[in-house]
Amino acid sequence: MAGYSGRFAPSPTGLLHAGSLVAALASWLDARAHQGRWLVRIEDVDTPRCTPGAGEQILQQLARCGLVPDGPVLWQSQRGEIYQRALDQLIAQDLAYPCGCSRKDIEAAQTSPTERHRAQVYPGTCRAGLNGKPVRAWRLNLQAVREARSLPTITPWSDRRLGEQTEDVAAAVGDFVLRRADGLWAYQLAVVVDDAAQGVSDVVRGEDLADNTARQIVLQHALGLPTPRYLHTPLVLGSNGEKLSKQNGAEPLDVAAPLQALQQAALALNLPQARSASSVTQALQGWLEAWRTLYC
Ligand SMILES: [Zn+2]
Repeated sequence: MAGYSGRFAPSPTGLLHAGSLVAALASWLDARAHQGRWLVRIEDVDTPRCTPGAGEQILQQLARCGLVPDGPVLWQSQRGEIYQRALDQLIAQDLAYPCGCSRKDIEAAQTSPTERHRAQVYPGTCRAGLNGKPVRAWRLNLQAVREARSLPTITPWSDRRLGEQTEDVAAAVGDFVLRRADGLWAYQLAVVVDDAAQGVSDVVRGEDLADNTARQIVLQHALGLPTPRYLHTPLVLGSNGEKLSKQNGAEPLDVAAPLQALQQAALALNLPQARSASSVTQALQGWLEAWRTLYC
């Protein structure tokens, strides 16, 4: 496919683990299966949560697994000015507004009890003005974006594995944050700006990130950026049945045995065991055909 660009975008809050290798392998295989480019972006925008040196180490782990990016690595921590330009563009078009609400204010304004682990829906308090409160965060004005870009209330999107999806972003999260009260850039803004900057045509990532997609699509429309195709891959579950993640104690990947690590990742993607493969390169080539059959 002409113009295919894919990416792997890890957060360096720790080293690569078995779960994040699945996302890396999936995005690499999809790029290769489409004769496309495979890029890497280090999502170190949430600096306080990042581990110093982890970004470089992740790149080394990937290289040991034969996964080498086809272009320069993008580091989100160096892109503040670019994100500011995107926010300025939205502000100039009246599609973003300052918010002076504290977490407490937002909690108090909830009309229905929200589950504690879920993000609370922002009720739009500051859409009409700050009422003398100081600016804390910047938010996307969903209603203004819908009107300016003629978007439906329900955002439809399509996933290459999960099929047709929909989300009412206003009902699910409300006017979401673009720049946080602590001055850091919101994940959604950084991802959308960078996917466009890297010319990403296909986002291949774990299913745990699927519920960001509708918000990212709305933001793409707001910024006049193209919407890539999406493929969300099956999650790797730990022995406790929960998603394998750094937060629930996933071990860093053992790159002393990269072939073994890749075999495990391939299993999670329902790819056949490359038993006869004697090298990482051979195993990767071997999975390409199966990937095409399963996911393309
Ligand atoms: Zn507010």
